[in-house]
Amino acid sequence: MRLADLRDHLRALGAKPAHERRVLRLWANALPQSSGRRRPEDFLPQALRDGLPALEAEWAGLARLQSEHPADDGSARLLVTLADGQTVESVLLPRDGLCVSTQLGCAVGCLFCMTGRSGLLRQLGSAEIVAQVVLARRMRRVHKVVFMGMGEPAHNLDNVLEAIELLGQEGGIGHKNLVFSTVGDPRVFERLPLGVVKPALALSLHTTKPELRAKLLPRAPSFDPAELVEAGERYARATGYPIQYQWTLLEGINDGDDELDGIVRLLAGKYGVLNMIPYNQVDGLDFRRPSWERAADIARRLHRRGVLTKLRHSAGQEVDGGCGQLRARALDGSAA
Ligand code: SF4
Repeated sequence: MRLADLRDHLRALGAKPAHERRVLRLWANALPQSSGRRRPEDFLPQALRDGLPALEAEWAGLARLQSEHPADDGSARLLVTLADGQTVESVLLPRDGLCVSTQLGCAVGCLFCMTGRSGLLRQLGSAEIVAQVVLARRMRRVHKVVFMGMGEPAHNLDNVLEAIELLGQEGGIGHKNLVFSTVGDPRVFERLPLGVVKPALALSLHTTKPELRAKLLPRAPSFDPAELVEAGERYARATGYPIQYQWTLLEGINDGDDELDGIVRLLAGKYGVLNMIPYNQVDGLDFRRPSWERAADIARRLHRRGVLTKLRHSAGQEVDGGCGQLRARALDGSAA
């Protein structure tokens, strides 16, 4: 379901634009529709008031909590059931963050990712994306939303941008706290700068070598890593938000000195930060996680050579937390 469908329902019940904004603002903030009536537009037409309980019940069904899996780092993986019974993952992150899914499955097929193994099953509607935020807000505060869960947001661009616009305008989330994460797609660099709400951008780099990137991310748009960084740099300068370059560290694959030289060549002096995340090992996938000491040494060396580098844990990894693993376990019958 798209936000446009929600708006159509509201209009059919007599909502004017101000009513629509009010109802959607309360929904996006997980507040009851009865809260704070003070201004004239807060008093809704009778037909709309009568219809709201049924609409609220319908919207609550867009994303229901199936199970919660807390981790020691303050994060918690949520297995979320959609209205058609399919499941996606959201992650409550430390410091009031939330990671949401944008697709069921994913067509990019990154070799190291469990979600990529299923291929794309279906798109998530913009309302289903916002509904994950509403669900999380019923559990705790959410001040930052990263679009880094299951799916490639660039492959569901209209829905993701609609969700971003609602969250940035009515949902009370600062624009730079909305983080669009992508493997890189020319459409992203065309559309994002035109939006009313311009999110921050995270680019999955993973390697500086074009051939290796084509192998690891087999169905990502063929973007030379150097061109990707140039496009990211232009967006960062235009918006004033640094780019977050993502690098899943795979032992023996992209942790060598040649890659470090490549990173320095591409990123030194750029308006961005490199997030290095040691790979979260998955049964059945043939990649290994480097030791934390080795990863820390790589981060230190890059830092010394002028690349702002942060070494991060993958949130919730001790609860089978790599993207898509929880859903895979649930389908297997072991995560309920
Ligand atoms: Fe898709 Fe992201 Fe997984 Fe790659 S890592 S297959 S882009 S969900």
